[in-house]
Amino acid sequence: MIAVQTMTMSSYFRPSVDAMEGYVPGEQPKPGTNIIKLNTNENPYPPSPDAIAVLRTLDSEWLRRYPDPYANEFRQAISQVLGIPTDWIMVSNGSDELLNVIVRACAEQSSRVVYPMPTYVLYRTLTQIQPADIVEVPYGESFCLPIEELVAANGAVTFIASPNSPSGHTVPLADLRQLAAQVSGVLVIDEAYVDFAEETALPLVQEFENVIIARTLSKGYSLAGLRLGFGIANPNLLKGLFKVKDSYNVDAIACAVGAAAMRDQTYKNDCAEKVKTSRAKLAGDLKQLGFRLWDSQTNFLLAQPPQGNAEQIFLGLKQQGILVRYFKQSGLEDKLRITVGLDEQNQRLVEALRPLV
Ligand SMILES: *Cc1c(COP(=O)(O)O)cnc(C)c1O
Repeated sequence: MIAVQTMTMSSYFRPSVDAMEGYVPGEQPKPGTNIIKLNTNENPYPPSPDAIAVLRTLDSEWLRRYPDPYANEFRQAISQVLGIPTDWIMVSNGSDELLNVIVRACAEQSSRVVYPMPTYVLYRTLTQIQPADIVEVPYGESFCLPIEELVAANGAVTFIASPNSPSGHTVPLADLRQLAAQVSGVLVIDEAYVDFAEETALPLVQEFENVIIARTLSKGYSLAGLRLGFGIANPNLLKGLFKVKDSYNVDAIACAVGAAAMRDQTYKNDCAEKVKTSRAKLAGDLKQLGFRLWDSQTNFLLAQPPQGNAEQIFLGLKQQGILVRYFKQSGLEDKLRITVGLDEQNQRLVEALRPLV
C-alpha cells in the first residue's frame, strides 16, 4: 500500500526558486516540420560551409578526451578577426551562459541588477535565481536610454542589450560611454544582434575596466544549435568570471566548428546583408498593411498591428503553421516580434496577415 501525501508538501527549493516563473523559451518545433519559424531570431541561412566541413572531419578521439577549458582554438579565431588579445576573451556555452556567470560572480542578495525595459527576459530570470534585487527602468516609446535612472539604481550589474530585443534599436555609442563612466558596477553590453547592426560598443572595453561585451554565434553565424558565445573584457574583469564558469563549459566540437565559422567573416557578412535587404522589404510590406514599426538593426522587427490585436493575430498565424513571438508583457501585449526569414517565407507571412489585421 502506498500512502499518497496530498496535503501540504514542503518545497525542495529555495524560496527564490519557488517564487519565480522560470524563463519560457520560444517554441521549438522539430526540424523538418513544415513550419515557418519566425519566433526565435534564428538566421534563415545555413552556417558557413567551412564550419560544416570541420564537422565532417571530427573523429571519436575528440569525444573521448575532455575539451580545452579555454576553447583556445576558438579564442584565437576571435582574436584574429577582432584584433583583441586572447586573454581579453572568455568563451561560453552560448552567450546565455556568460550572462549567467556574470550574475553569479557579481550579484548577491543585498545588491541590485539593473536594466531598461522592455529587453531580454533572461536578465530577470537569472537575477531571480541568484537572487538579487531587480531594478527595471522603463525605456518609454522612443527607446531613449534612461541613463540617469540606470545610474541612480546603483547596480552591481547593469545589462544593456544593444541592439535591443524586442525593440530592435541600437543604443548610441555616446550613451553607452556615458553610462559606462557613471555606473558603479559591471556594465554588460549584450551584442547578440551586432552582426546586423551599423555600430558596435567594442571600443568601450579598452576605455573602461567595468565593461563586458557579450557576443553569440547563434544569430549572425547561424549556429544557435551549437551553443557558442563569448565575452570581451579587460582581463581583470574576466579573472573573476573564469573562477565561476564550469571548467569544461564549451565542448570540443563547438570549439572547432565555431573557430571555422568565425574565420569565415565573408560568408557571415554576406548572409547578414541578405537579411538586411529582406528586412527592408518585409518592413515595407508590413507598413502597407498598416503596422507601426520601429527601426531595426537586428534580424527581426517589432510590429504593432493597426488594431492592436497582436495576440489574436499570433494565434491566427500559428493555426496556419507560421510562428512569430508574442510577449504577454506590459507594453508589448499589442505588438509582435517577427524574425526576418527568407523572402519567400516573409511573403507567405504577409499573405497570411492580410485577412487577420
Ligand atoms: C539570442 C539572444 C541571446 C542568447 O544567445 P545564445 O548565445 O544563443 O545563448 C542573448 N541575448 C540576447 C538579447 C538574445 O536575443
